[in-house]
Amino acid sequence: AMTAQTLRALIRTIPDYPKPGIQFRDITTLIRDPAGFRLAIEMLKPAVARHGVSLIAGIEARGFIFGAALAQELGLGFVPIRKKDKLPGRTVGINYALEYGSDRIEIHADALAAGDRVAIIDDLIATGGTAVAATRLLRSTGAEVPVAAFVVDLPALGGAALLHAESVDVFSLLAFE
Ligand code: 5GP
Repeated sequence: AMTAQTLRALIRTIPDYPKPGIQFRDITTLIRDPAGFRLAIEMLKPAVARHGVSLIAGIEARGFIFGAALAQELGLGFVPIRKKDKLPGRTVGINYALEYGSDRIEIHADALAAGDRVAIIDDLIATGGTAVAATRLLRSTGAEVPVAAFVVDLPALGGAALLHAESVDVFSLLAFE
């Protein structure tokens, strides 16, 4: 039977990308495999559904792939969280610190309605900087963010713990040390 081990085997590790010393966990090999892609969505589904969310928000760019598929599976709408200046309408955004410099993510100002319960989806959580910023951005509109789900967690980088400290339930399918 296909399990989380199956998913692990479908993720490719690329050494020294995007810079020397980084082991990049590449999910393109997972989504290239139809049974693997389906399994990932099937495993994310109950972890997100049990929070009674009304909307899925995916983080650019790989969070769109898993988030949109999961939204379809749950019968929910999808909201893209994009890098700055990519969305055409009026936006609300948040700046967050990177190792070197800073970045900004945005959503459409009218994307969320009062009472929305939103699940954040991304392919991977590392330091948690992106997911914590996404949580704060969504909550700044009045939405609730009870859960964030990822295909891959890198627990050594502490992101899941950071997000949990923001009162978000964190779920991931597998971890790489
Ligand atoms: P964080 O903000 O948690 O440090 O980084 C997570 C973000 O960077 C996610 O949007 C994720 O897509 C991307 N990212 C960082 N490292 C990796 C990696 O090794 N593999 C993949 N697929 N994405 C990564």
